[in-house]
Amino acid sequence: MAEKTIFKKIIDGEIKADVVYEDELCLAFHDVSPQAPIHVLLIPKKEIVNVAGFDDSDSQLAGHLLLTVNKVAEKLGITNGYRVVANCGVEGGQSVDHLHLHILAGRQLTWPPG
Ligand code: AMP
Repeated sequence: MAEKTIFKKIIDGEIKADVVYEDELCLAFHDVSPQAPIHVLLIPKKEIVNVAGFDDSDSQLAGHLLLTVNKVAEKLGITNGYRVVANCGVEGGQSVDHLHLHILAGRQLTWPPG
């Protein structure tokens, strides 16, 4: 059996996280290495490797995740905009193989990303 990712361990309660939102389908917690004053990760509880790992049966979950981004932003009091990032695969810069949406806010973000 493949080794659990760090995010699966968080879902299973084996590793602590600073949780900001949870429902039956997903979990949001502060990133341990924040790249902005607010940097939260939103993950599905279902084990999906990344956006490329979605299949047609995940359409409801994919929509739920995007709708939840805004709920989390409201909960965190973000009023001046935010960025949502999903790093996908090697060239996307993904380091944890469990789908996660970065929610970044609290400073002026620049474009393009590195
Ligand atoms: P990515 O590089 O897109 O795969 O993002 C993985 C993110 O997970 C990075 O921003 C890490 O700082 C973050 N991270 C890794 N381990 C933990 C953890 N135990 N709790 C919270 N965030 C984590």
